Amino acid sequence: MSKIQMKTPLVEMDGDEMTRILWQQIKEELLEPYIDLKTEYYDLGLRHREETGDQVTVDAAEATKKYGVAVKCATITPNAQRVEEYNLSQMWKSPNGTIRAILDGTVFRAPIMVEGINPVVKNWAKPITIARHAFGDVYKATEMRLTGPGKAELVFTAADGTEQRQTIQDFKGRGVVQGQFNLDQSITSFAHSCFQYALDVKQDLWFSTKDTISKQYDHTFKDIFHDIFEAEYKEKFEQAGITYFYTLIDDAVARVIRSKGGFIWACKNYDGDVMSDMVSTAFGSLAMMTSVLVSPEGYYEYEAAHGTVTQHYYRHLRGEQVSTNPMATIFAWTGALAKRGELDNLPELTDFAHRLEKAAIDTIESGVMTGDLVGLWEGKAPAQKVTGLEFMRAIAAKL
Ligand code: NAP
Ligand code: MG
Repeated sequence: MSKIQMKTPLVEMDGDEMTRILWQQIKEELLEPYIDLKTEYYDLGLRHREETGDQVTVDAAEATKKYGVAVKCATITPNAQRVEEYNLSQMWKSPNGTIRAILDGTVFRAPIMVEGINPVVKNWAKPITIARHAFGDVYKATEMRLTGPGKAELVFTAADGTEQRQTIQDFKGRGVVQGQFNLDQSITSFAHSCFQYALDVKQDLWFSTKDTISKQYDHTFKDIFHDIFEAEYKEKFEQAGITYFYTLIDDAVARVIRSKGGFIWACKNYDGDVMSDMVSTAFGSLAMMTSVLVSPEGYYEYEAAHGTVTQHYYRHLRGEQVSTNPMATIFAWTGALAKRGELDNLPELTDFAHRLEKAAIDTIESGVMTGDLVGLWEGKAPAQKVTGLEFMRAIAAKL
């Protein structure tokens, strides 16, 4: 059998611990036998980030701008314990944060659904994708603990020296105060990423804020989305047969629960943080959740939503058999390959990616799965627990 040829390389970002092991196995078992795999390789493993002073992360993000499509393995975000464990010269920043800052993107998280693993919300027949605006608001807020009476004010000094001033509260006693901000530029990027992605996957887009209460702040989000939609996307949405729908966050929550799924829900930063945990838990397992960063220019970076599965890695190092689920990492690869195929007009590459996804889903539906899914399994076939590698070989057999 001749291998599928690629035109443009994928930007490949290797990572850490258990997912680094799965990464290699996915390439060997599921990709290289079928594709003449072209990648530009960046080792984002913590050791190599240390060796390069984290330059490798920046280079990988820049390469994503050059080629357009990247696939990333989970990576360690160092904390004090990791600084010791890896003898780091400093506590390097989260690679995902660095990449997101360079690509200025929005993260879309979607569950992989299989028959036999049922969402807690029984009417959710299709996946719900959460798009979280990952900039500003409470995550970049300035706050103060107030220990006694006094006046808190909001003051804006314009570049020309003129001042706007409003009283927040005349405090009679102890209290708290917080200042939040966001940027039109960032909200605009967020809106473009959402509209772009909705067109890509041909799903309706919902957006929710609390504009009835937050008449300036949240209303600005609503207005920016509305204006961009009217000016640039309305016709494209009509042609694609999809809709854009704005509603209040509390109304959205009620509608989401009653829905059948199959749409994208764009959320402000805090709402997205909270709702993505709710939605992913209700769909079943973090190991079945994919994630893609989409920049407003249309660059794509695919990854799994979970981390490096440290506890499994330590057990693996002790020589124990571990059963780590490679689904989300496989789907990061298939997402990237399908997108590359689409951009390079290589239908055989896109088609291969979809076949691999189907083989992976069929494998689980036949009862062969990793340990994390066994407890969730309600399918007809008896669940057969296998290691990550055995699972991949079962997928290859189906493929
Ligand atoms: P984690 O790696 O997602 O793992 C948390 C737990 O979830 C695991 O111990 C495991 O539970 C279960 N789990 C997650 N993925 C699984 C899979 N593929 N198969 C089976 N079980 C899975 O999160 P963490 O332990 O909080 O973080 C570990 C490291 O990952 C940290 O250094 C963190 O910085 C990093 N991290 C990276 C990213 C990223 O690169 N995007 C995201 C999050 C965290 P059981 O142990 O109960 O089996
Ligand atoms: Mg969270």
